[in-house]
Amino acid sequence: MGKIKLLDNLTIQKIAAGEVIERPASIVKELIENSLDANSSNIVVEINNGGKSYIRVTDDGDGITDDDLDLAFERHSTSKLSTIDDIYNIISLGFRGEALASISNVSKVQVMTKTKDSLGGIHAVIEEGKVVSKDTVGCPKGTTMIVKDLFYNLPVRKKFLKSDLVEFNHVSDIVYKLALGNYNTSFKLIKDNKVILKTSNNNSLITNIYTILGKDIAKNLISISFEKDDFKLNGYISNNNLYRSNRSHQYLYINNRYINNNIITDAIERQYKSIIPINRFPVFTLFIEMNPGNLDVNIHPTKQEVKFVNQEEVINIISSTIRDSLNPSLVIPRVTFDN
Ligand code: ADP
Ligand code: MG
Repeated sequence: MGKIKLLDNLTIQKIAAGEVIERPASIVKELIENSLDANSSNIVVEINNGGKSYIRVTDDGDGITDDDLDLAFERHSTSKLSTIDDIYNIISLGFRGEALASISNVSKVQVMTKTKDSLGGIHAVIEEGKVVSKDTVGCPKGTTMIVKDLFYNLPVRKKFLKSDLVEFNHVSDIVYKLALGNYNTSFKLIKDNKVILKTSNNNSLITNIYTILGKDIAKNLISISFEKDDFKLNGYISNNNLYRSNRSHQYLYINNRYINNNIITDAIERQYKSIIPINRFPVFTLFIEMNPGNLDVNIHPTKQEVKFVNQEEVINIISSTIRDSLNPSLVIPRVTFDN
């Protein structure tokens, strides 16, 4: 007898779930991204105990049909990709069809959802990745996902979760990132029944920065923009009076997706070398729009990293646009507020 065995399905699913779901904030990220992909205008995130015991995300988006609901929690089930070619042209935030499967394998999930055309809503209970009950309910158009008791079936993982406060800080960090980048959608973040953040839809980016990051940051920003062919760079960067002791106020979005990219961050920071103190970091909120075909977002399950086909060109554009905008001999279009 050999010693290699095939793992059973439940074990396989729990291992796979661990790649995407590390902590409550990972769930919040996936649920909000699904709400955004479903064309929502209003998203409410409610969190108890740092998200360890309770997470509820309510949206007013497209909703899920009865038939789709049975599939939505299966692994590799997605409405966002249909052929392999689509993976080179991704415009939605999700596409791996893994999040709901993973979440429902490591916590207790309930969903309420209604599409525009259906008469009533559906309430479903999902256990170990399977829809175990479904009934009709009255509810408005949109989807509510309730996620309880994270890692109830993975005691070791549960032990690795930090205090409620630390977990909540991770949650608020991701909500702030998504709220800042999606200024056409209103966000509300509620922590143990207390409203922590509220943005409105139909905002401009700068009003959103004002609401989320505060007036002191907003008034020290310079607006930048560059456009060539199908490449656009827009947003706000700090002037020489605004810097932080860490990188927590650096926000970069590519095709509306929040992205971590050290090469871009380095290129931006280099432009500030001679104008802000050493070991201090500029603040920025930048949006890049580019042909999704020149971008690979499929390199990590959480999709926060990208690879560019023409990285050098992208870096050159960013560096020179920022250099020109910071140049004191140019007229700097500073942001002003009345009060
Ligand atoms: P992905 O987002 O990669 O497609 P998910 O597991 O996150 O995979 O979701 C599976 C499917 O469930 C989505 O493709 C979508 O059709 C549906 N879905 C999930 N959340 C929502 C939501 N809030 N509103 C509408 N549809 C949703
Ligand atoms: Mg998703």
